[in-house]
Amino acid sequence: MDFSLIRNAWVEINTAQLAENFAIIEQYAPANLKRLCVVKDNAYGHGAVTTARLALENGYSYFAVETIKEALELRQADIKAPILLFGEASLEELKACAALKITPCINSAYRAEQLNNVLKQANQTLNVQVEVDTGMSRWGVPDTHAVEWITTLSQQYSHLRLEGVMSHFAMSDEADKSFALHQLGRFKQVVHHPDVQRLKLPYIHMSNTGGLLDLPDAHFTMVRTGILPFGIYPSLVCNQYPGLKPVMSVKAKVMTLRDLAIGDKVGYGMHFTATKPMKIAVLPIGYGDGYPRVRNNGYVLIHGSQCPVVGGNAMDAMMVDVTHLPDVALEDEVVLMGQQGHEYIGPRDLVAWKHTVCYEILTNWRSRLPRIEV
Ligand SMILES: *Cc1c(COP(=O)(O)O)cnc(C)c1O
Repeated sequence: MDFSLIRNAWVEINTAQLAENFAIIEQYAPANLKRLCVVKDNAYGHGAVTTARLALENGYSYFAVETIKEALELRQADIKAPILLFGEASLEELKACAALKITPCINSAYRAEQLNNVLKQANQTLNVQVEVDTGMSRWGVPDTHAVEWITTLSQQYSHLRLEGVMSHFAMSDEADKSFALHQLGRFKQVVHHPDVQRLKLPYIHMSNTGGLLDLPDAHFTMVRTGILPFGIYPSLVCNQYPGLKPVMSVKAKVMTLRDLAIGDKVGYGMHFTATKPMKIAVLPIGYGDGYPRVRNNGYVLIHGSQCPVVGGNAMDAMMVDVTHLPDVALEDEVVLMGQQGHEYIGPRDLVAWKHTVCYEILTNWRSRLPRIEV
């Protein structure tokens, strides 16, 4: 018995649906376009190793992570495919990249020197990529200096093997593509420059999910999908692949039922007062598990029916109105995100209650909730 899985609230990952989503993406994949699966933050909370294995079975050939620990998890699961480390790596991280054969982005002479020295001592070479900042002001070398840097990097560091150039969109999934096209123009000026073309780099990539769906001109030789295989679109207006469905659900059990009399208060801050006799269910999950910190807002599903949250939810508990469910019983299954009967609560509903984006809703379910693959 694995005691760490004992909890009356949990995250469910529908691996059959995840496999189906990958198969659908594969069907739509343009020929010869390489695909990189972004599995950062435990594959947006879906399980990095499970996601990576299914990706490999469905034509993906590269992975990307944000931290060495995330890369290590893949290597320890015997995943040998190339792994790109997003962002800017420190000396310690570069040493780990060399040891684990992870591809870092090298965007300055300072980092190139550091990595080259590490590799020289180990008598080793390592593939590296360059990130070009085309307008997000985040990671990478500014596009105005990129050709010069790419040329230098490819010539002056005997232990570095430049294999690719990437950039990233600030907004690729909304109807207004003007800034995305502006960024794309800057990236093209870099990668179509004769000094870069001459290097015949196998990996030229800029598109995230939004770019894959909406900007075929920005596919180059590879696309990077993060959220798409999880059946969630980055926006409501981007193109869609029919058949993709969400993979993650969040569930709990009814642990206490309680009758309220007129005037009874519910929860911290006494944000709810019963104005009629009511029945409420207490659920063992709260904002400490990643549920939005709502007050008298939002609902869960019990017996396929919407049960509104009453009062302010706590770190570890929340109360919902079940007055309309005469047969509700202890241990009944509660859906906080996902499908129950004909009702569905999607990340986008939680987005509205928490005032955030789908990405945060997916990644915010905390590791204290067991993750169960079904
Ligand atoms: C997170 C990330 C992605 C994936 O974005 P999605 O919108 O989830 O497809 C791609 N590229 C970079 C650089 C990222 O940081």
